[in-house]
Amino acid sequence: MALSDSSSIYFGKKVCVLGLGRSGMAASRLLMKMGAVVTAYDSLNTPLHFEREETLRGEGIDVMIGPDAERASAYYDLAIISPGIEENTPLVLNIKEKGIPLIGELELAYTLCRCPVVAITGSNGKTTTTELTTRILESAGLNVSSCGNIGTPMSELMVKGDFWDALVVETSSFQLETIRTFRPKVAVWLNLSPNHLDRYHSLKDYRDAKLRIFENQHVDDVAVLPHGENFPSVKARVITFSTKEASADLMLRGSEIIFKGMSVLDLKETNLRGSHNAANVMAAFAGAMGITRKIPNLRGVLSDYKTPAHRCELITKHRDVRWINDSKATNLDAMEQAIRSVQGPLILIAGGKDKGFGFAPIAELVRECVTFAILIGEIRHRISEEWACVPSATVDSMEEAVLLASRMTDSLSGSTVLLSPGTSSFDMFRDYIERGETFRKLVNRLSSITESNAHS
Ligand code: ADP
Repeated sequence: MALSDSSSIYFGKKVCVLGLGRSGMAASRLLMKMGAVVTAYDSLNTPLHFEREETLRGEGIDVMIGPDAERASAYYDLAIISPGIEENTPLVLNIKEKGIPLIGELELAYTLCRCPVVAITGSNGKTTTTELTTRILESAGLNVSSCGNIGTPMSELMVKGDFWDALVVETSSFQLETIRTFRPKVAVWLNLSPNHLDRYHSLKDYRDAKLRIFENQHVDDVAVLPHGENFPSVKARVITFSTKEASADLMLRGSEIIFKGMSVLDLKETNLRGSHNAANVMAAFAGAMGITRKIPNLRGVLSDYKTPAHRCELITKHRDVRWINDSKATNLDAMEQAIRSVQGPLILIAGGKDKGFGFAPIAELVRECVTFAILIGEIRHRISEEWACVPSATVDSMEEAVLLASRMTDSLSGSTVLLSPGTSSFDMFRDYIERGETFRKLVNRLSSITESNAHS
């Protein structure tokens, strides 16, 4: 299938790709397909990098890995940077010093894409909203795929060919830092809360990077915004959503989502819980409306949708106790939403890596809503001090946390145990997935032991 007419712009060009992760691999292959002369660089030389070097070399792509990559002397017409690489690293500085133009992998893929793009950004809810938007557009009969931060780099889809009616792109602030012409037909802004402050100097820098999602939009494009958010840089037609304000274009009445006075979905008829998921559905609906007016009734479309694993995921309901895995909650806003979505006695398992921010901002909410907090990870003692008003205990492992939670629920009927760490996992686990899977295994083991004890 033909790619965009701009495909010829890379023909015969000398292009280097910085970073040999999934995005870098995809960008290298896409450029190769477009007839460019490609060299891929990475500062690391782990066994995985050697393996990737071999693979790409087999496809005709030159590769340099390890410290030599940071001293490469060749000149290029263009450099492509992967989103995981910061611009002040030696690998990138070496390229910048030569005055080589630099764009991100997302920008590269976009220049070759002919279908309309829905781009979704926010501190929390991007993956869920990207999935919801894709599902709604599919139900309208469109050939659509999701890509970007959700997993499949956009370049990987472009290598296969550009045959979609629309693409839904989960877009991180890192990707937006290096766009140039990226112009989504629909740009969705979900929310903003302090995040990635290890990469950005301030919340303003992080916000400014995200705001670039609107930078190239025209008046005939669509911007989906939370009601009350007023960005002077937005030129596109605005659709607003709110879980609180009745004057928003999409609003919540009880559990029903209302658009132009009409109920489009009753959340009670879905597996989606919490006002944060109501906001995600509204944003997804508005995002899909920016592409097509032929949206079917959401009732049938979303009735069996489940949020992705590790996002307020119900693992089991055992002896009247609900065990919920929200391991993806790596900041306080996500944790707050999870706490608010629970009714009845709540045992909260929180903590993890000390990312430099305290947990004091939500102490009052925790005091109101949490029966007992079990604190884990390197930040556990700090949280314990900041939540002095909350009954709590510190423990040294997830196993201890689950056992203690189980003992506590013995006397709390109708209770919920919620793992919502509020910070990242790297002090104890490889990533949030390993943390969530560890929790799941421990909970499942516990319920099978209590089941078999009950039968013996
Ligand atoms: P992202 O891709 O932005 O990290 P996810 O959909 O993966 O977002 O969800 C990450 C975490 O944020 C989960 O804990 C989830 O329950 C929570 N979350 C989802 N949507 C929202 C929202 N709209 N506002 C706040 N938190 C949310």
